[in-house]
Amino acid sequence: MTRGRFAPSPTGRMHLGNIAAALLSWLSARAQGGVWLLRIEDLDPQRSKREYSRLIEDDLHWLGLDWDEGGLDGRGDAAPYSQSLRGDIYARFLERINATGYTYPCRCTRAEIMATQAPHQSDGRIVYGGRCRPESLPAHGADFAGASTRIYVPDRTIAFTDVLYGPQQFNLAREVGDFILRRADGAWSYQLAVVVDDALMGVTEVVRGSDLLLSAAQQIYLYRLLGLEPPRFAHVPLLCNAEGRRLSKRDGSLNMEHLRASYTPGQITGRLAALLGLLPDYAEITPAELIAEFSWQKITPSETITISNLS
Ligand code: GLU
Repeated sequence: MTRGRFAPSPTGRMHLGNIAAALLSWLSARAQGGVWLLRIEDLDPQRSKREYSRLIEDDLHWLGLDWDEGGLDGRGDAAPYSQSLRGDIYARFLERINATGYTYPCRCTRAEIMATQAPHQSDGRIVYGGRCRPESLPAHGADFAGASTRIYVPDRTIAFTDVLYGPQQFNLAREVGDFILRRADGAWSYQLAVVVDDALMGVTEVVRGSDLLLSAAQQIYLYRLLGLEPPRFAHVPLLCNAEGRRLSKRDGSLNMEHLRASYTPGQITGRLAALLGLLPDYAEITPAELIAEFSWQKITPSETITISNLS
């Protein structure tokens, strides 16, 4: 049984790019007769707002994307479905990872990280240079109090096959370096939370934006450390504005507040379906009607799709 999910961060109103990812995830799960769940990724207490979670649910309902489990009221066996309520669970799994001896405490300041980082990535990503890494690993019995927890990554390729983009290879040592599982202030990292949640929620298929391809490699690494089976990954093109930047809250005309005032769910779904290659031409269609047209083969595996307005 396929179990898909949508895992939005409630840090703003959804835009067309979020909707495209939600729609493809929902269509793939429904086309396989599977279950679709909604998880609220509200790990960042400063930026996450309950009001945005409510709006996300309302926008999904309005579009016709229904979920079988999860959401703010947390129906389903794996409740709660809001990450802010799952700290005890993450703590248990972090203990399991710590027991491998491949984590270590890091007390680097931001300035120290910048000064000792490995060579720059072209996109400005910071690659941790290993300043706090112990001389030899595995190491046990370290004192993590007041420190971030980092996980060692080996200088070796992690390979997987993405449903849309095909074979992928990432060397985590070169691409990210040892990465954080828990920050010094106690905040859980996205990478740890997403793996624990997808595993415990029985997710078998992860559909999300192509900006998270590298994260998939980090996540597969954590699945293996925990002895868990990774899901199938299907990353999907990011929608970008005319300047080539991925859509954000600032692209007002493509945010749900504006879209709902100007278009019907069928118009929005039809336009996305044509843009993604699911329909040869634009036609008004509901998500439920689009299930019969859905196939991953129809979608072009470009990293981005440009769109400046819906009409
Ligand atoms: N919460 C993440 C976001 O909204 C998505 C994470 C995921 O799908 O794995 O960008």
